[in-house]
Amino acid sequence: MISLYDIGELKTILDERRVSSGDSVRRLHSHDESFHAPVLPDVVVWPHTTDEVSRIVRFACRHKVPVTAWGAGTSLEGNPIPVKNGIVIDFNEMNHIIEVRPEDFQVDVQAGVIYKELNKSLTGEGLFFPPDPGAAATIGGMIGNNASGIRSVRYGATRDYVMRMVVVLPNGDVIRTGNRARKCSSGYNLTALFVGSEGTLGIVTEATLKLVGLPVNYMAVRATFPAVFNATDAVYSIMRAGLTPSAMEFLDANVVHVLNHDRGLKLEENPTLLMEFHGFSNQGLMEEMNFVEEICRTNEALSIDCGIGAEERARLWEIRHQTYESIKRYHPGLAPLIMDVAVPISRYSEMVAFCRREVGDLTAYLFGHAGDGNIHVHVVDDPQDKKRWARVEESGNNIVMKALEFEGTCTGEHGIGIGKCRYMQTEHGESLALMKQLKKLLDPDNLFNPGKFFL
Ligand SMILES: Cc1cc2nc3c(=O)[nH]c(=O)nc-3n(C[C@H](O)[C@H](O)[C@H](O)COP(=O)(O)OP(=O)(O)OC[C@H]3O[C@@H](n4cnc5c(N)ncnc54)[C@H](O)[C@@H]3O)c2cc1C
Repeated sequence: MISLYDIGELKTILDERRVSSGDSVRRLHSHDESFHAPVLPDVVVWPHTTDEVSRIVRFACRHKVPVTAWGAGTSLEGNPIPVKNGIVIDFNEMNHIIEVRPEDFQVDVQAGVIYKELNKSLTGEGLFFPPDPGAAATIGGMIGNNASGIRSVRYGATRDYVMRMVVVLPNGDVIRTGNRARKCSSGYNLTALFVGSEGTLGIVTEATLKLVGLPVNYMAVRATFPAVFNATDAVYSIMRAGLTPSAMEFLDANVVHVLNHDRGLKLEENPTLLMEFHGFSNQGLMEEMNFVEEICRTNEALSIDCGIGAEERARLWEIRHQTYESIKRYHPGLAPLIMDVAVPISRYSEMVAFCRREVGDLTAYLFGHAGDGNIHVHVVDDPQDKKRWARVEESGNNIVMKALEFEGTCTGEHGIGIGKCRYMQTEHGESLALMKQLKKLLDPDNLFNPGKFFL
C-alpha cells in the first residue's frame, strides 16, 4: 500500500492532475473485459514522456511497489489487472504519432496510440498497420499481448510489425531495441522478447511499426454448411490449395442465431465461413472466387454468397463486427469464459469438434480465426454459481489440454494474464525455467505486473 506521503512524492514527478488515488479512477483500472475479479490499484498515473515513466519506475523500485502498465484495459485474461495493487501507469495521454515515414513503410508512435486512430490517420498515405484485435486497443497493449485478429492469417501478429522500441526496465533504466532495417541478423532479438511479455519484463513507451500498402481491391465470400466439420474441412482445403485469404472466420450456428436476434438479421442459422481476399484485378479476384466456391461446394456448402469490391466486402462482413458485444447483450448479467486455443491447421476440424462436444451441456458460442487454427469458445454463465462455474472451468481446462495434446497453444492471441498461468508448465516444459530466470534477471523484486505468467 502506498502512503499518502509517497503519493505526494509521485506528484513531484508528474503534476497533481496526472496522479490520482480517487475511488472511481481506481475502480476503472481494477478490471479488464474478462470475468477475473477486479483488484484496485493504490494510485493511477498518466505520464507524457519516457523520462516520466522512468522516474515513476525508479520511485516504485525504491519503495518496492508493483507497477502495471495500462493501455485501454480491453484484455480478456486479466492481463492488466493490478493483482498486487501498487501503481497503474495509464498510457492514455502518451498518444502521439511521432513520425510517419511513408518512404520506409514505417511509423513511430507513443505507446498510448489507439491502433484504429493510427490506421485512420494513415489512410491518406495509402498505408496501414494490419494487426486488428477489434477492440479499441492501444499499441502498447497490443505489444503487451502480441495481439492479432482477423487479418493475421495473411499479415501476421503484432510481433511481426514491431521494428524498434523504447523500453523502461524494472530498475528505471531506458533501453532502445531493434533498428529500421527490414532484415537483421544482429544479436539477440530483444524486441521480440518484450513483445507478448504483458509488461512483466519492461514497459514500452515508444515503438516503430512496419506498415503495408492498403489493398487495391477486395473479394469476399460468406458460405454456410450443414455441419461444423464441413466448414472446418473447407478451411483446410482452401489453405491447402495455396489460396491466401486475408481473413477467414468461422462462426457456429449459435453465434449466427444471436446475431440474427441482436441485429434483426435473417441469416441461415448454420455453421458459417466468412472470407476476405485482397488483390489487384477484378479478373484475378474472380478466378479466386470461382475456386473458393468450388471448394465450398465440394465440402457440401448449403449457400454461397460472394462479391468483389469494397461495398461487397462490407455487406458480407457486416455480421462479424461486434460479435462479442452481441453475445454479451444476449445474456445480460452473465459473464463469459473465453477460450483462445490455437492448433496446427490440420487439427482444426478435430479441435472444433472436440470443443463442441466438451461444451455440449453449457451455453457456448464457437467462433474464431479459422485460417490461423485459432478458435474462441465463449461460454456464458454465472461465476457466482460455484457449481456451474466449476463445470465451465472444467470444460475450459479440457479444451486447453486437448489443444496442447495437438501441439498447439493455450492462447493464440489473448495472452496468459491470470487465466492461463496454470498451463505454462505443460505448454513450455523445461523452457519455463529459463523464462523464470529471465524474469528474475530483469525484475529481481517482481515489481512489473506481478501475479501474471507464473503461478
Ligand atoms: C470485443 C473484444 C474483441 C477482442 N478481439 C481480439 C482479437 O481478435 N485479437 C486479439 O489479439 N485480442 C482481442 N481482444 C483482446 C484485447 O483487445 C487485445 O489483447 C488488446 O491488444 C489489448 O490492448 P489494450 O490497449 O486494451 O491493453 P490492456 O488490456 O490495457 O493491456 C494488455 C497487456 O499489456 C500490458 N501493457 C499495456 N500497455 C503496455 C506498455 N506500454 N508496455 C508494456 N506492456 C503494456 C498490460 O499490462 C497488459 O498486460 C479483444 C477484446 C475485446 C474486448
